[in-house]
Amino acid sequence: KTVCVTGASGFIASWLVKLLLDRGYTVRGTVRNAEKSKHLLELPGASERLTLVEADLLKPGAFDSVVQGCDGVFHTASPFLYRNFTDPDAQLIEPAVKGTLNVLESCAKARPKRVVLTSTEAAVSHTDKRIGADVVDESYFSDPDKCRREGDWYYLSKTLAELAAWDFAKQHNLDMVAILPVLVVGPVLQTSMNTSTEIVLELLNGTTQTITNQVVGWVGVKDVAMAHILTYEKPEAEGRYICSERMLHFGDAVALLAKLYPQYHIVAKEDGSVPRDPGYNASSEKIKKLGLTFQPLEDVLRETVASLKELKYLD
Ligand code: NDP
Repeated sequence: KTVCVTGASGFIASWLVKLLLDRGYTVRGTVRNAEKSKHLLELPGASERLTLVEADLLKPGAFDSVVQGCDGVFHTASPFLYRNFTDPDAQLIEPAVKGTLNVLESCAKARPKRVVLTSTEAAVSHTDKRIGADVVDESYFSDPDKCRREGDWYYLSKTLAELAAWDFAKQHNLDMVAILPVLVVGPVLQTSMNTSTEIVLELLNGTTQTITNQVVGWVGVKDVAMAHILTYEKPEAEGRYICSERMLHFGDAVALLAKLYPQYHIVAKEDGSVPRDPGYNASSEKIKKLGLTFQPLEDVLRETVASLKELKYLD
């Protein structure tokens, strides 16, 4: 039972590695920075069954030897940035698309039983087709032109990467499933800050002043990691799987945080002059049918805050 996890040092991947080790798997994790990956070596079972390998997403053949002999490959590595980038092509799109194809090229040679790709719900719902629809499901794909027009570079990078991955998997007859999480929160195992956790942190520490007028989905990191494992282990799993515990208007999410944590000085305010985005629902029925149950958002937020306190990001 040997599997490979790319981007093993990341927020979601660290939990995935932990749960895989807990289930007895031997794990090969690819990382780009050994220093940022030390926390993985402390996980139970790591000394016996975890090896970390440095591999560059954009170097052809870099994943050949690490996926050779693996039963499963989990490709999670991809830049998740909403800000602090100057060149969307080089910093987001290339590593997402070319990186994914590079990993899949190695899989086409090594022939693992299944590849699990970490995509995102942002590769589903960013399309005008959903206007007027109350519920979106896995049949929707985000529209790259719309992402480009609106400057949503992260959404674009993930949509193009997933579309390219499905094409490649079809051409090379690879068994692949894709996990499509909404905004992922929960306890942090890694030592550096990641984008989705930072969103919660900046609400609690008063950095965020205005709230986006958007309905956003929320899901716990442990459930997302488990979704990867379930879709890998269950032979009947196929296609794409949205993972969302709940869709909430950002304003309601802030109100929930403020109710749970009145001691923090949350200053973020809604722009009351514009009508609230009515939003939509992203259906997680398919992954629930496969056996996943979601931890309620309130508990996930409590665990997120406890972890931020433990890591001294919050008092
Ligand atoms: P992290 O930033 O914690 O993890 C991203 C991982 O990708 C890290 O291991 C990072 O390596 C690696 N990576 C990023 N850019 C590059 C690059 N140019 N070359 C090589 N490796 C790179 O974020 P998450 O754990 O949240 O994201 C993991 C996956 O989940 C991504 O595919 C993301 O798109 C997806 N996702 C995340 C959601 C969320 O809300 N968190 C929601 C939906 C999908 P390093 O540690 O060295 O930086």
